[in-house]
Amino acid sequence: MSEQTSLLLTSDNPLYFFEIAINRPLFQSFTYAFKKDIPMGSRVIVTVGNSTEVGIVIEKHLITPEVDFSINPIDEVIDDTPTVNSEVIEIAKWTSQYFFQPIGELLFTFLPNYLKQAKPLNSLYTEGYLRTNHPQTESLLKNAKKQQEAFNLLNENAPTSKSTLLAQGIKSNTLLELCKKGLIEKTLIPPTPSYTSESNAPLKLNQEQTNAVQAVVEHKDQFGCFLLEGITGSGKTEVYLHICKSFLSVGQQVLLLVPEIGLTSQLAERLESQLNTPVITLHSNLANKERASRWLQTQQSQPMVIIGTRSAVACPLPNLGCIILDEEHDSSFKQQEGIRYHSRSVAIKRAQLRGLPVVLGSATPSLETLTNTYQQRFQHLRLTKRATGARLPKTQIQDASTLNPDQIFTADTLSTIKATLASKQQVLVFINRRGFAPTLQCNQCHWVAECEQCDVALTLHQSTNSMDCHHCEAKHPIPKRCPKCNSPYLSPLGYGTERIEHELIQTFPDFPIIRMDRDSTQNKGSLEKIRNQLLEDSPCILVGTQMVAKGHNFPNLTLTVVLNCDNGLYSQDFRAKETLLQNLIQVGGRSGRADKPGQVIIQTSFVDHPLLKFFEQQDYQGFAKEELTHRKNIGLPPYHHQAAIRMQSLMDNKAFTQLMSLEQALKTYKTNHPGDNVEISLTMPAAIERKSNWYRYLIMLSSPDRKQLHHYLNVAHHFLIQTPRTRKLKWVIDVDPLDT
Ligand code: ADP
Ligand code: ZN
Ligand code: ZN
Repeated sequence: MSEQTSLLLTSDNPLYFFEIAINRPLFQSFTYAFKKDIPMGSRVIVTVGNSTEVGIVIEKHLITPEVDFSINPIDEVIDDTPTVNSEVIEIAKWTSQYFFQPIGELLFTFLPNYLKQAKPLNSLYTEGYLRTNHPQTESLLKNAKKQQEAFNLLNENAPTSKSTLLAQGIKSNTLLELCKKGLIEKTLIPPTPSYTSESNAPLKLNQEQTNAVQAVVEHKDQFGCFLLEGITGSGKTEVYLHICKSFLSVGQQVLLLVPEIGLTSQLAERLESQLNTPVITLHSNLANKERASRWLQTQQSQPMVIIGTRSAVACPLPNLGCIILDEEHDSSFKQQEGIRYHSRSVAIKRAQLRGLPVVLGSATPSLETLTNTYQQRFQHLRLTKRATGARLPKTQIQDASTLNPDQIFTADTLSTIKATLASKQQVLVFINRRGFAPTLQCNQCHWVAECEQCDVALTLHQSTNSMDCHHCEAKHPIPKRCPKCNSPYLSPLGYGTERIEHELIQTFPDFPIIRMDRDSTQNKGSLEKIRNQLLEDSPCILVGTQMVAKGHNFPNLTLTVVLNCDNGLYSQDFRAKETLLQNLIQVGGRSGRADKPGQVIIQTSFVDHPLLKFFEQQDYQGFAKEELTHRKNIGLPPYHHQAAIRMQSLMDNKAFTQLMSLEQALKTYKTNHPGDNVEISLTMPAAIERKSNWYRYLIMLSSPDRKQLHHYLNVAHHFLIQTPRTRKLKWVIDVDPLDT
């Protein structure tokens, strides 16, 4: 910024000073000045170096000018009204500090993309008209029948949108004439939530449900955390619905966070049909303008329910009364790329700052949340029976160790599938792997097709006839010969959804085989189509990944077959067992939800594994107690808190060297503070060391004392900000990491 363009502050030239957050990976905000006061949360345009950027006012300074000095001016204020309210700024500041993420980037993560650009808010407003209260209204409308009609449709204080007027047969010209006479005026209306009033009779809650709703509602306007632990199909959603009803009835708003985009529309339909209130869904699959417009609706204070994924945790909601997180154990609440934060932590903090209840719901709560209930920080609400009276599915563990590599199903599994189809019911085959086969191998020299940019094998995809990397999205043609020994004998090894679909089509040619994975649901509406097909209740086989495990409710699905869960039984990752059991219970819970009993078959090579015993007995609590004891003994979360310091560099080992010096610095610091209880790991490669040609390393810090851990992270952070993030080197602090 040059001297000439800076503003000069003198005692007779009053200026206002602001801290501005911009969307860059910077840990500080910047001070700018303006000749007028600007409300907090307003978007402005500022010059940074040679470019102009959108910024947000996150603080005002109250300085009395004593000496003359110059400071950079704000170039422009984008809107008349703030974009985010002070609560959102406060939440962003807390999140930034707790998760060590740059405040500006974080605040912008919470905004819809459209508003990250310098587009004014009122470009999302619609045209509307108001009466002006003209003294000669009557005489001016004499003999103007059409104008009188239009005028009658308008109010003095609440504008009517032009589209509503046009829909009622009013002509644009008529409105123009009325404006000319000064009887009405044009105005802009901010996006307003709407709904079709429909109110189906509510279900009568059972005793456990009633107790749960009551416990939460009694906490109105007070901070409190609740775990709603209810087995699959126990009526948790019904409890959410009644909680919503109660808060809406006193004019408040409810924020309902879900892990998957795919679940929002289904849930919205269910709530809308019961609640006579706007139900707004917010997720990343919406067009930019639509998402921004819905986000702006959440600035209104009328009662409404917002259903959203991760970043919706910080949408404005001036009258928020309660926050609900469904499937609270789901790892997608934690953003694992870019800005790293956990929506569950943010939701709890928001509830605390606002003084309101937050409900975490799950059939398989995270061990973190369970521990909080054992230690009585959270109140434990339980639903122990299926609400429809249906029983939990029967489970059966099938030995798959004797299958040859080309066999997918055991003979027993096949005959159970056959019997289920014959009795006109539906089957789900669950495998957490899309594509045809996870590897393509040379029969002669055992060469395996690998990604050129990542340390992983390429997945064979038959539908696109390509070899895809699931980590960097690279696509390659399928090789005809082995590049190493020139042999033409290459075979797919292992199986994914496509291959199972293929096999099942051969084995069960008379039944529809439906595949549901990321590839088969890319087109708009395809997920809906699959869902509707299943809801038709005719016999079929659904082959799906993780996607099918969550939330869906298919009454005629009575058999679930789980393939390939063995990796999770013996993984390096200490959370793998927890995640696996959660998944098994979730997908198992998809079968037999209505009046017909369900069953689950798990095919495994490790039939005696203790985790599978817990599954057979549907004893999640038993597993949790045992696993928690184990974690306590060896100092793992939730007893010890963790943070990863991650660094990656392009093509060389710069990141490794740099992290090694940070490791040394931290260890020296610890030596000088012998009383500290913080463990610092060696510098180690990430689980996938090279990804998109980035070489990735990390140091893991852990401590039973959150304050001490944060103190060490501060030390690391000071070191790191001396290490500029460049096009060739990136680093991030990952608090409460879920992966390595
Ligand atoms: P969850 O969210 O725990 O999986 P849902 O709320 O979806 O469970 O309920 C499962 C099924 O039970 C749904 O079909 C729902 O309509 C039904 N249900 C829920 N509560 C009741 C109730 N109190 N009486 C009768 N049926 C209920
Ligand atoms: Zn070969
Ligand atoms: Zn790759």
